[in-house]
Amino acid sequence: MQPLDTLEVWFATGSQHLYGPETLDIVAAHSARIAAALDGSGSVPVRVVLKPVLTEADGIRRLCQEANAADACIGLITWMHTFSPAKMWIAGLEALQKPFLHLHTQYDREIPWATIDMDFMNLNQAAHGDREFGFLAARLRLERTVVVGHWGDPEVQERVGTWSRAACARRDWETGQIARFGENMRNVAVTEGDKVEAQRRLGFGINGYGVGDLVELVDASTDVEIDRLVERYLDDYEVVAELRPGGDRAASLRDGARIELGLRRFLEAGPFIAFTDTFEDLHGLTQLPGLAVQRLMADGYGFGAEGDWKTAAMVRAMKVMSTGLPGGVSFMEDYTYHFGPDGDLILGAHMLEVCPTIAAGKPLLEIHPLSIGGKADPVRLVFDAHPGPAIAACVTDMGDRFRMVVSVVDVVPPEQPLPRLPVARAMWKPRPDLKTNAAAWILAGGSHHTSLGFDVTPAHLRDFAAMAGTECLVIDEATRLEAFADQLRWNDLYHHLAKGI
Ligand code: MN
Repeated sequence: MQPLDTLEVWFATGSQHLYGPETLDIVAAHSARIAAALDGSGSVPVRVVLKPVLTEADGIRRLCQEANAADACIGLITWMHTFSPAKMWIAGLEALQKPFLHLHTQYDREIPWATIDMDFMNLNQAAHGDREFGFLAARLRLERTVVVGHWGDPEVQERVGTWSRAACARRDWETGQIARFGENMRNVAVTEGDKVEAQRRLGFGINGYGVGDLVELVDASTDVEIDRLVERYLDDYEVVAELRPGGDRAASLRDGARIELGLRRFLEAGPFIAFTDTFEDLHGLTQLPGLAVQRLMADGYGFGAEGDWKTAAMVRAMKVMSTGLPGGVSFMEDYTYHFGPDGDLILGAHMLEVCPTIAAGKPLLEIHPLSIGGKADPVRLVFDAHPGPAIAACVTDMGDRFRMVVSVVDVVPPEQPLPRLPVARAMWKPRPDLKTNAAAWILAGGSHHTSLGFDVTPAHLRDFAAMAGTECLVIDEATRLEAFADQLRWNDLYHHLAKGI
């Protein structure tokens, strides 16, 4: 994955010529200080690049067009230090194709009580300058994030960081491709979707590839490469005796390594950000890829099983958003419930494909039969997810729009060991409780596949959905089922109307 500090947010300050050149010099100096503080903030993972103070329409339009054309630029931060009559922003903002964050701040934290005069007031008037800009953005119906507070406030910097992580994922979707091996699982509805509309709205391209082309690369792996990869497995995991070199089933681990080498080679040859496969189409592969998928996910690839390209895209987006953060992101499926006396829990897992970035400890590398697919027993990593607050998110195709659904949860340790469960798993308590959360999820048509991530919050996904112009529904501790059901009805109406004729 691309390091986020190779990407840029441009810091654009609005003003006008009314105040004279000396004032504009001070505005420029203040902007430089703020941009440098954000650039240096540990909460903001991208570079923040200062742009010259904007004082007329032509310069604003040119900057927005430059931002559109600059590959490294993922969006703009705008701030009106003084008053910047907003008609001059119309052409620029209408031309801007990248996300923007309106930072409503001011240079000084506090009012200098003893010395404040009208010169100071005229220099430091973001409190109303930003409202003029806000009107124009609202009048143009532009999606944007508004962040309010002093620029040195850690909470403000954190919020800017959240938005910029979402903008990085937006850019990743706009420049990435998803490879599909095989089709969707037959007869399944929720994994279907309009791939043309997805490319138009969400940005990524989705294309199918023959499993035979993958098999060719898998079979081309050399013994030396396989030896080296098996060594790596022995270092990284607790490998069961039967899979270790000389063990009864060592050949199965070598098959797993061969699949990983081929899959990796295939994905690295293209601009692929994510991939899907299906147990119904494995012609020429010895096993359903388990370990290989788990390790590729750990390296940043999105993944969706059974042809689920939308969840593959969500896993990737959340991996980009949480780059450099420790919690991890995985493909996941709501599997089984525990209606317990201390609260109801969800046991999430999949047949094999859970990402070890969410593991609580060193994963076990094991082999067990798989009851579907009709192939050899697949090798897989087995572990429990570490505890902590997380979100489970999906994107569905409602026919007239894409809908993101976000569930806020707390991952908890399993109450007891699960010695006979041969897959990696997570247990979580959904907020506010399972009854409300699952009812809301089902009313919203959320999928059984999700992306489970620890450092991504609803704020990331709300920003992200706004950038793509899609719906975003959040189920959290404040959710009331009746109000949520009403929100679904209103959203239907809104999204029909917002599309126009
Ligand atoms: Mn599944």
